[in-house]
Amino acid sequence: MPKNVLFDTLRDGSRGREDAVFARLPDGTTLSFDAFFDGAARMAAALVRNGLKPGDRIAAQVAKTMQALQLYVGAVMAGGVFLPLNVAYKTAELDHFITDAAPTIFVCDPEAEPAIRALTDARILTLDPCGRGSLTAAAQTATPMPPLARGGDDLAAILYTSGTTGKPKGAMLSHRNLASNSRTLAQIWQFTPDDVLIHALPIFHTHGLFVATNVALIAGASLIFQPGFDAAAVLSAMPQATALMGVPTFYTRLLQQDGLAEAAHNMRLFISGSAPLLADTHAQWGAVTGHQILERYGMTETNMNTSNPYEGARRPGTVGLPLPEVDLRLTDGKGTPVPPDTPGIVEVRGPNVFQGYWNLPEKTAEELLPDGFFVTGDIGQFDDAGYLQIIGRAKDMVISGGFNVYPKEVEALIDDVPGVMESAVIGVPHPDFGEAVIAIVVPDAADAVTEGMITDAIAPELARYKQPKRIELVNALPRNTMGKVQKNLLRQQYAGLFR
Ligand code: AMP
Repeated sequence: MPKNVLFDTLRDGSRGREDAVFARLPDGTTLSFDAFFDGAARMAAALVRNGLKPGDRIAAQVAKTMQALQLYVGAVMAGGVFLPLNVAYKTAELDHFITDAAPTIFVCDPEAEPAIRALTDARILTLDPCGRGSLTAAAQTATPMPPLARGGDDLAAILYTSGTTGKPKGAMLSHRNLASNSRTLAQIWQFTPDDVLIHALPIFHTHGLFVATNVALIAGASLIFQPGFDAAAVLSAMPQATALMGVPTFYTRLLQQDGLAEAAHNMRLFISGSAPLLADTHAQWGAVTGHQILERYGMTETNMNTSNPYEGARRPGTVGLPLPEVDLRLTDGKGTPVPPDTPGIVEVRGPNVFQGYWNLPEKTAEELLPDGFFVTGDIGQFDDAGYLQIIGRAKDMVISGGFNVYPKEVEALIDDVPGVMESAVIGVPHPDFGEAVIAIVVPDAADAVTEGMITDAIAPELARYKQPKRIELVNALPRNTMGKVQKNLLRQQYAGLFR
């Protein structure tokens, strides 16, 4: 059979154990590896029958179902480029993706079909939140097809970055990018066929689609497949599971559940990523469950870059060490390394790093340097053991009166003040200073803390120019579906504070 690099890698994990359970579904039924791949091969045939040619894009804006996961693998088998879209995007926002990526096939919820049809000439197939629709119907009557040949450099997917500034950019990910990273992760996190992973992440993002799904397939492990994150459902799955992958919000919400310690008793591994895990959450989790959460760091463009070790110290507030085959350096953002013990822009190189931004050669040339390093835009620093700390995004750095302020440093101090749950430090326009540092703070409970108490607590620890000129107390910080605080929204909201 011809080689299809990503598919072969995913398929090999369960070879010889085709009858074993791959997924336990929300309705209580199970699906074997054989049934999963048979469904994917039918999807592939249905896509080809609907006009898909190798290299064509298949856009999918669909609810999280097992059929949607089979669509991803089917697209890879058919030689297509899978383009998952956040279900939160409104129809009007889809225009950019459709114009930019020009998909041949668009898979959407049946209810969205008329609106999508008005936007595109692409062939439209449907898939509803129960896994039914014209796509499933076409797959059921199709003859399963073998995978088409695809090499390591061929594209397997385009994932649009969340685009907090400007329009979302399509990150082109090759078969080699995805296969190599998932293989590495399965190895370093010691996944085996005995593992049962709770899958409660969305599958339009690199975390749930590639990290969780690919790692499980490559290891021949099984999934407890949940349609979304529900803390009680995750908790009740734990006694049958061995591993959980989540964003930090999963862990803070689970800590509010009764019975966590007992439920987590037989678990092997808790992994966190996609946003910074508070050291406090790490400590509380350890105290309640006896497990140290393993934090890792990556992004749409690069897959995963670093991880705390499976064996050895998992350091809170750090994202660990570079993965095997990943070169990582801290620079001025133009390839010149910063001196040791200094924060710098994280740059990474390795088989995991994407092929560039779709249709954006100039943007690609700015961020993908001639020596192969990708300028991530994150600011990092190594601690005394060589573990990487992510201090923030370069574009979140505040320049107040000509001085650089790293929000994370100020946030860490504020978060330590008794009565504070969490905080976000941002810069807003200021007539004298250019930008002023302000802090948006969520108290543990109403009246748990005042602006004055926070100011008094942090002032002795912080140079004057880093101290917030205003502290706003709020009930919650705005977060996106991956648990990331949306500082762009806060900057907009407070832009007029000093004008
Ligand atoms: P995305 O492309 O949506 O996965 O977002 C990637 C960005 O999330 C990175 O560039 C980081 O800014 C952030 N990120 C991911 N994992 C972590 C982590 N463990 N700690 C801090 N920031 C993280």
